[in-house]
Amino acid sequence: MQKVRGCPICEREIALAQRSAHGPIFMCRGCGSKFLEARQEIAYDRDYYHSWFGETQQDIERIKRVNFQDLLARHVGSLKGKKLLDVGCATGFLLKEAQELGAEVSGVDVNEWAVTQAREKLPGARIFAGTLAEAIRGGFFAPASFDVIVGTDVIEHVTDVKALFREMVQIMLPGGQGIFTLPDVESLSSRLMGGYWFQYKLEHVTFLTRSALALLADELDFTVERITPHKKKLTLEFIGNVLQYHNRGVLHLLGCWVGKLARLLRVSKVVFSIGTGEMLVQIKKLNP
Ligand SMILES: [Zn+2]
Repeated sequence: MQKVRGCPICEREIALAQRSAHGPIFMCRGCGSKFLEARQEIAYDRDYYHSWFGETQQDIERIKRVNFQDLLARHVGSLKGKKLLDVGCATGFLLKEAQELGAEVSGVDVNEWAVTQAREKLPGARIFAGTLAEAIRGGFFAPASFDVIVGTDVIEHVTDVKALFREMVQIMLPGGQGIFTLPDVESLSSRLMGGYWFQYKLEHVTFLTRSALALLADELDFTVERITPHKKKLTLEFIGNVLQYHNRGVLHLLGCWVGKLARLLRVSKVVFSIGTGEMLVQIKKLNP
């Protein structure tokens, strides 16, 4: 068991804030960030990506591609000739989209199985199996070499987020852009649901606040350009499955009904934009 002691961002004391089904939630008295103890090593292996909620691989691929197309179209300028790195690239769906838009793509992921899949999907791409720190130490990624760094659903999985941001900024070109999606612990859904918030999961250990991001920016030579609520594009089938999976009570029943009704009305595969308690953070590396 890994104990959470001081805040990894501002080093202030942390204290028990509330309880969740996945263990106690600690809050920093300085920046307000929240932390879950990493209670066990999560095996980021083949099975990790098969733990979705009963969708076919085809459906998962469709949802992923729609979301990544949207993210790149809305928040990244022209990618032609740009060097893009996806941190936590998984099986490479975002990289595939970026490559089709003309980017020279690289990726890194701790899941070796996923990296093998990504390499098959993206001949010519540079993809590292391991942590970003290991990739930099081994000279796989050079300092000041990327125009764009993307990290979707990855920051909350990392214990030492300050180290992660330091590494990302180190390999970004001056003026380079960073785009991240992560759970927003200050969102309405988080405030309303308390310890029952759906973003509290075994593998989510870090929940950054806006103050924490501002502190990281001050220390690590980047600016936070924009923080906006992030919506995901999901199908009713998926929403129904998630509700059924996560709870046994009212939400479970609701999930069953959403699924049934959507199938009845033949809209279970239609894609909707829906707030999932996440934020989209855009940063820029300062010029020296
Ligand atoms: Zn703090």
